[in-house]
Amino acid sequence: MEFSTEKIKPLAEELADIIGRELNEEGDIKERQIEEKIRKRLQELGQMTFGIVLSRADDVPEQEIPCECGGMLHYQRRRPAKVLSVFDWVEYKRSYYAGCTCGKGKAPLDEKLGLEPGQVTAGLAALLGMTGIELAFEYSGRWLEPFLLLAVSENTIRKETQQFGELQAERENKLIKQSQDIAYLQERLRTETDLPERMYGSIDGAQVRIEERNQDEKNTEKWREMKVGCWYTVEPVPNNHQTKRHRKKKTIGQQVLRAKGIRYFCDIAEVDEFEPLFQASACQEKVDLASEVVFVCDGAKWIWGLVERNFPHAVQIIDWYHAEERLENVARDVFTEDKAVPWLDDVLTALWYGDTHFVITACEKLASQSEIASQAFTYFRNNAHRMHYDRYRENGYMIGSGTVESGCKQIVTHRLKRSGAQWNLNGAILTAKARAAWLSGDWEILCALRDRLPLAI
Ligand SMILES: [Zn+2]
Repeated sequence: MEFSTEKIKPLAEELADIIGRELNEEGDIKERQIEEKIRKRLQELGQMTFGIVLSRADDVPEQEIPCECGGMLHYQRRRPAKVLSVFDWVEYKRSYYAGCTCGKGKAPLDEKLGLEPGQVTAGLAALLGMTGIELAFEYSGRWLEPFLLLAVSENTIRKETQQFGELQAERENKLIKQSQDIAYLQERLRTETDLPERMYGSIDGAQVRIEERNQDEKNTEKWREMKVGCWYTVEPVPNNHQTKRHRKKKTIGQQVLRAKGIRYFCDIAEVDEFEPLFQASACQEKVDLASEVVFVCDGAKWIWGLVERNFPHAVQIIDWYHAEERLENVARDVFTEDKAVPWLDDVLTALWYGDTHFVITACEKLASQSEIASQAFTYFRNNAHRMHYDRYRENGYMIGSGTVESGCKQIVTHRLKRSGAQWNLNGAILTAKARAAWLSGDWEILCALRDRLPLAI
């Protein structure tokens, strides 16, 4: 450490001299301007250093190298190229080979390092992708510029973000193949140790507006469902993190739990196309090997169908908050406020203590005067076997998918429905997949795959 500090010190002093002179010329200066100036000069220094390092990487060229066609390539000259990095455009020179009978030429250094002349470096791509999964492409460039000290176009950020989505889609396809390989599954059954005990799953869907070009070249809009799923385990919420809502629930016997290690997967696809991804991600998280699987979801039919087909022995729980919301909507639709409160109090108490019969009857009585009550009646009747909240609490299950749901919302609502967001089908899927990977803590894995581009694709 001492050594490198000593080495850098003369450089820093020289830079301080240069900046000092510039500041003197400018007169009245604030600290922020000093900071900005240093950052800008450091970026220029990085730009030059990067160019020198790259140019030195193969400055003793071989005279001949083998060509992919089986022939030989001959050294031509040092040929310049540039890449867009966190230091802005960096120019470098590398050895260039040609002269094979096949007519092809190449720069081996680019292949070795994964550089693509005229394109973004892997280092910058990781930052652009992280911005693109968070912000609308439209203004992400403007938002990034003060951080990066360089302008990146909307299209570049979109392209780089969706490339991470493509890498994630490739990972998923590999996982799907693996999860359908009987030999692999049998081997896994024999060798896997450290199996999870109680695993949770939640699945949800949300509508995304997709713009499509029809046959007459006109733009049309279509709503498509983004299906989002996640796997997780739970842990008690520490006392100092408990909210008022938590404490209230605790007084009536609810354990205060939160999800941890949440892993997301998503796609815009029909159920039968989504199912292999659901199975593969379950396999990856060893859900199929867990001693107990609990699903906390809302009532959509396709969701429970998926659960029942793949995990027939799983515990099925209707998310408490969805059930609660249904009853709130009925109360609001049928009663004036003074009558709504006691009615709601009664049905929620009954539901909390597992008396679904009371809730079903209460909704049925109102069904003739309210469509919402009629729908609620059907909902509670069809899902009654998933609403034994008294028993679930006794067994220590988490009954709300609230934490998880906010996570599922993070993928769709928070990114795909941002104002300014316009999507074609592929763009929506790839951006969501990249975001899901980031939320699951897999960003580094995608970055490692991105390092190997353009060769990886
Ligand atoms: Zn050749």
